[in-house]
Amino acid sequence: MSIDREFDYIIPNKFADIVLPGSRVLVPFGRGNRHKEGIAIEICNQSLYSDLKEISSVVDRVLTGEMVELVKYMKDRSFCGYYDAVKAMLPLALRLKYKEIYSVGDISKKTYNNLERKILEYIAKNKKCSYDSLINKFGADIIDLIEPLKENGSIIVNKTISKKANDAFLKCASLKVSANEAADYINSRGNKKHQKVLDILLSGDSVPVNELCYLAGVSTSVVSTLEKYGIIEVKNIEVFRSPYKNKFHRNEKEFKEIILNDEQLNAFNGLYELYEKDSAEVALLYGITGSGKTMIYMKLIDSVLSINGNVILLVPEISLTPQITDRFYERYGDKVAVMHSAMSMGERYDEWKRIKNGEVNIVIGTRSAIFAPFERIDLIIIDEEQESTYKSENSPRYHARDIAKFRAYKHSALLLLCSATPSVESYAYALSGKYHLFEVEKRFGESKLPSVHIIDLKEELKSGNRLIIGDFLRKEIEKNLKNGEQTILFLNRRGYNTFIGCKCCGYVMTCPNCSISMTYHSSNNLMMCHYCGYSQEPVSVCPSCREPGIRFLGTGTQKLEDEIHKLFPEAKIVRMDLDTTNYKMSHEKILGDFAKGNYDIMIGTQMVTKGLDIPNVSLVGVILADSMLFADDFRANERTFAMLTQVVGRAGRSHKPGRAVIQTYNPDNNILKLSKNQDYKAFFNEEILFRKMMKYPPFCDIYQIIFSGADEESVKNAAFTICEELKKQLISIQRKNVILYNPSSSAIFKINNKYRYKIIMKCKDDSVLRNILKELQISFYKEKAMKDISMIIDLNPQIIL
Ligand code: ADP
Ligand code: ZN
Repeated sequence: MSIDREFDYIIPNKFADIVLPGSRVLVPFGRGNRHKEGIAIEICNQSLYSDLKEISSVVDRVLTGEMVELVKYMKDRSFCGYYDAVKAMLPLALRLKYKEIYSVGDISKKTYNNLERKILEYIAKNKKCSYDSLINKFGADIIDLIEPLKENGSIIVNKTISKKANDAFLKCASLKVSANEAADYINSRGNKKHQKVLDILLSGDSVPVNELCYLAGVSTSVVSTLEKYGIIEVKNIEVFRSPYKNKFHRNEKEFKEIILNDEQLNAFNGLYELYEKDSAEVALLYGITGSGKTMIYMKLIDSVLSINGNVILLVPEISLTPQITDRFYERYGDKVAVMHSAMSMGERYDEWKRIKNGEVNIVIGTRSAIFAPFERIDLIIIDEEQESTYKSENSPRYHARDIAKFRAYKHSALLLLCSATPSVESYAYALSGKYHLFEVEKRFGESKLPSVHIIDLKEELKSGNRLIIGDFLRKEIEKNLKNGEQTILFLNRRGYNTFIGCKCCGYVMTCPNCSISMTYHSSNNLMMCHYCGYSQEPVSVCPSCREPGIRFLGTGTQKLEDEIHKLFPEAKIVRMDLDTTNYKMSHEKILGDFAKGNYDIMIGTQMVTKGLDIPNVSLVGVILADSMLFADDFRANERTFAMLTQVVGRAGRSHKPGRAVIQTYNPDNNILKLSKNQDYKAFFNEEILFRKMMKYPPFCDIYQIIFSGADEESVKNAAFTICEELKKQLISIQRKNVILYNPSSSAIFKINNKYRYKIIMKCKDDSVLRNILKELQISFYKEKAMKDISMIIDLNPQIIL
C-alpha cells in the first residue's frame, strides 16, 4: 500500500520499442536500488522529476492497453491501489520472486570500520545471505553502507529471478511412527490436541492437512509440531494437475445444431441482432428456471465461434461449474478454459496462458474470470446475474458486472445478463430501456414448474412432531424413495446444532473473538465459530451461572443428515456443505455421483440450490425458510426470493412433475407466498415500491464506510470524526439529496477481535463525491491516532454489514 503509486523511469534506447503500457519491468528502487517488479502504466515524453533512474530489464507484457485502462478505472471506482487492481487480473503464479544473494568478495586490501566488518563476517558465515536477512540483523540504516561495499567489490551480488513455483499439490499428513511410539510421545510430551491429531491418523490413512485440522479442531501449528518431532510426516501429494483435461471430448461429427422453440428463438434473434451491432450493448435475458436460457446463450456462442470470436461466461460459484463445464466441454472441447478459485495456482496459470496465447475461445469461470486476458471480446455472459458472489468483498471491491460493462464497451461487445430472478436494479434498468429486455416465460418441453407447498411447522409442533422433517415432507420423501426418484433437501446452516445456550440463565455461547454464537459440529465433537475458525470442547456447565443448564439447539446440516438416516435407514444419503467439500474438487465428485443416481437424497447448504439440472430430481425440500426471512438488509427480500426460486427450480426438470416443500414457522410471510407462485414480476412490483419509498438502489447509490480495529472506543471515535468531516464537506460543496446516517455498530459487531462501525450514505455517486472520500481516506491513514484502525470504502455493497 505504501508504495502504491506511479514512479517515473527512463526507458533506455535498447528497450524503446518493447516497453508498452502493461509491460512488466524490473526497476532499481529506493536507496538500496534493490530491484522491484513494476508495470508500465503510461509512456510519456517528459517527467516532472529530474534524476530519473533507468528501467533495468523488461520481463514481458502481461496487460493489454485495455487492461491498463481498466486498472485506472478500478483505482478510481473501487478505492483500491494499482497493486490490488493488477493483482486481481493476473494469476498468482505470475508474480516474480526477485532475490539478491550476497557473498563476500575481495577484502584483502581494504580497511573497514567496525560495523562494516561485522556485516562482512555475517555474510561470510551465512551461505545464502539475502538482503532481507541483512536488514533483519542490522537494521535498515545499513543500506548506505552496503552500496559502497558492493561498488568496491567487497560484496558480490548474485541475482536470481524466478516465477513463483507452480503449486499443484495438496499437503497430506500421515503417521510416521508405530501406534505404540505415538502413544509414548503423547504420554511424555504430547497434549490433548496432539492426541486428537494422532487419533485420526492412527487409522493409517494419509489425510489432507486442512481436513485434519478441521477434524481435530487444531491449527496447523499443532501439525507442524508433530512433524518437527518426527511423529507424523507431511507430504505434498500431487492432485488434479489438470482437472479438466480428460474431458476434452468434442466430436465434430456429433456437433448438433441447437433447435430452439418459438419463445427461445424470439429471444435468440433479438440477442443475435444486438451481437451483430458495432456498438456495445447490454441485454437482460429473464427466463424462469428450466426455460432454456443456457441453450439460448449456447446457440449465441455457436455463432461467435463460427467467426473465431471470444466469449467470457461468468457463473456465480464453483459448485456450478462442473455441470456447466461438462456441457461446454462436450460441445466445444478444448476451445474452453476454466478459471475458478478452487484450482491450484499452477492450473490457473496454465489456463491463463492458454487464453493469452489465443488457444481458447471460451472462458468459463467465477468472478475474477472477467479479467480473462483476451485481446478481443465478442460476448460476455453473466449467468444468475443477481448473485452477490459477483461482488468482491475484499480489495479491489469491484462488481463483475461493472467490469463487464467496461470491457464490453471497450470491445463493442454484447453483455448478456441472465437470470430467473434478476436483481431489482437490473430488471428496473431493463424496464426503463437502459438495458434491452428479453423474456422466456415457459419451461422447455413438457416440464412444468413444480407445485409448491408451504408447511406450517407450528402445526407440526401442535400435533406433537418435534422432528425437523414435518409429516408432509416425510411422506413426500417416502414417495420419492419408493419411485426411485431423487430428492434435494436444503438448509442454509452447516454444523450440527446452531445454537448453544443455558436454559437456567439464558446465556448463549458466543465466540470469544467474534460476536457470533457458536455452532456444534458432531464430526469433530467441537463447538466452532464459522467466522474465525475458533473451536473449543463442548461444555455442560454454564460459564455464567455455573448450573448444568447448557442445551444444544437449532439444526444444521449434520443433524439433518442424522435425522434423515434415522427416518429412512435404507436411503442412500450424501451431504454437501463447506465441511464435506474441504477437499479440492470433492463437491464435483459429490455432484457427479448424485447426478449419476448413486444417492437418493442430497442434503446441503446453498451449494445445492443453484444451476443443477438433474432430470431424476422430482422433490425439493426447504427445511427451514425462516432463517433467511429476517435479515435486516435491504436486499434480504431479493435474496430470499431468489434463493427459494432457485432451489424450487431444481425439481421437475424433465417430464416427471416436480414438487417443492417449504417448511416455515411464518407461513403468512409475503415473500414465501410470492415464491410459492414463482412469480418474479409480482415480487418485483412490490419490491420496487419498497426501494423507492425507502430510497435504495436503483434509486440511489449506497456508500458503506467500515471502520474496524481492536479498541472499541477508538473505532467508534474514528467513525464519528470522519462522519463529521464528511458532513462539513458535503455542506461546503452544497451537495443536496444526500442522506448521511450517523455511525452505528455493524450487525456483527466483533469479528476476530476487531470491532466494527459503519457509516451509510445514500447519494448519487460521481467523481466529486469519490474525490472527497478518497481525500478523507488518505488523510485518515496519515493520522497517527488512527494508526491501528482501518477505513474501508465500499460503493454499492452487496451486504450492509
Ligand atoms: P435454464 O438455464 O433456463 O434453467 P436450461 O438451458 O438448463 O434452462 O434448460 C433446461 C433443460 O431443458 C435442459 O435439460 C436443456 O437441455 C433442456 N432444453 C432447453 N431448451 C432446449 C432446446 N431448445 N433443445 C433441447 N433441449 C433444451
Ligand atoms: Zn470467532
